[in-house]
Amino acid sequence: MNIYKKMTSTLKLLTKHQIVIKKNDKNRKTMKKLNQINRRDFLISSLATAALTPGIVQCVFCDQPQKKHVVVVWSENTAPKDVYPKDINNAIADSLKSLDGWEVIAASIDEPHQGLPDDLLKRTDVLIWWGHKRHDEVKNELVDKIYKRVTEEGMGFISLHSSHFAKPYKKLMGTACTWREYKADGTSVKIIVKDPNHPIAKGVKDFELPKIERYGEPFAVPEPEAVVLDGIYTKPDGKTEPGRMGMCWTVGKGKVFYFTPGHETYDDFFRKEVIQIMKNAVQWACPAK
Ligand code: ZN
Repeated sequence: MNIYKKMTSTLKLLTKHQIVIKKNDKNRKTMKKLNQINRRDFLISSLATAALTPGIVQCVFCDQPQKKHVVVVWSENTAPKDVYPKDINNAIADSLKSLDGWEVIAASIDEPHQGLPDDLLKRTDVLIWWGHKRHDEVKNELVDKIYKRVTEEGMGFISLHSSHFAKPYKKLMGTACTWREYKADGTSVKIIVKDPNHPIAKGVKDFELPKIERYGEPFAVPEPEAVVLDGIYTKPDGKTEPGRMGMCWTVGKGKVFYFTPGHETYDDFFRKEVIQIMKNAVQWACPAK
């Protein structure tokens, strides 16, 4: 039965029950039973009304905001505990909790369904992904579901650092996603806001990370539609080298952002500039409702 038919029949039931209640005034038992039916039908009716009202914010039962956006922060539980005691997923998730109108969920590969059961994936607006050592363990079936959610249903996808080799990101890009080299040798980086009008750059000024794992260009991905953040690496010998730090694509119906920093032995995800970039990226990648 579609929702309109359900509502109409519910309203008819309500009217009918009210008439019956009047006729059976003296029969308390019958009244109690009918009132229970009324309550149930009213709840169904309320729910149907809520479902039909776009942007509803109050739950009909508990006054709690009902229709928040959902961001899931996923990681693989391999970051060193002295830097990320609760792994990278929770570090990022904790920093996103101040985002108004968002439900923030941390998920891990070690949870059932690798942290993304169908019902959660279905209601996820933006999925943030950090992986490094366990890419191959991610089930292809899950990768296909993520790909479909992004390309066909508009879920946003944010790929962090070593997740350039994450299966979902590679499938979305459709290329090798290799960098020329990978060096954690004490290189630092100046991150430059290249596209200050882009939503991901909102409130972000150029900043430095004292250490970064250097990912050497070129990066084997499709040409980004925006390079929001550029970077200049300074190697231990003082020589400099450019490298892109934040890139955007649209893949099918979904938005995709890749952020180059985020090596697990550095505290990038506790830094205020990086937190601001994550918050901006989540809001940018959110599909329009
Ligand atoms: Zn790394």
